[in-house]
Amino acid sequence: MDFTVDTMCGRLVSYLRFCGYDTEYIEQREAGDRAAIADELESAGRTLITRDHTFASMADRAILLTEVTLDEQLRSLSAHGVHLSLPAEPIRCGRCNGELDEVVEAHIEPPEYVPTDLDEELYRCRSCGQYFWRGSHWDSVNNRLDSVLPPEE
Ligand SMILES: [Zn+2]
Repeated sequence: MDFTVDTMCGRLVSYLRFCGYDTEYIEQREAGDRAAIADELESAGRTLITRDHTFASMADRAILLTEVTLDEQLRSLSAHGVHLSLPAEPIRCGRCNGELDEVVEAHIEPPEYVPTDLDEELYRCRSCGQYFWRGSHWDSVNNRLDSVLPPEE
């Protein structure tokens, strides 16, 4: 499943990307032309996630959320059959939706925000160049999913 997330559900975007889903976000400035967006979604085979009843009815495939908080929205997505768990290694950039490559070249000099004593594999986004690793943010996403979602059968 690939997703397009409406403006009112923006906090879900990075969670879906962390879980490995191809996830686009509708920026506020684009949100006006809903009919055109619905058409694009249909041809791209994307599922719309929105809190807007009218918008959901325009899309071929949509998940209509009534929940407001992030935890409730995550729970609702899970109830709609969206499997939410972190993959063994990061797949997608939480910032731009680009795909990540593991950094294997020893000669690459990572930017300053990457800890020099990093004990984890390092990944780099093909699109925006951001570096990622399984650090405290990854753990906090994992913990939140664990605490919010019902245990898997
Ligand atoms: Zn990126």
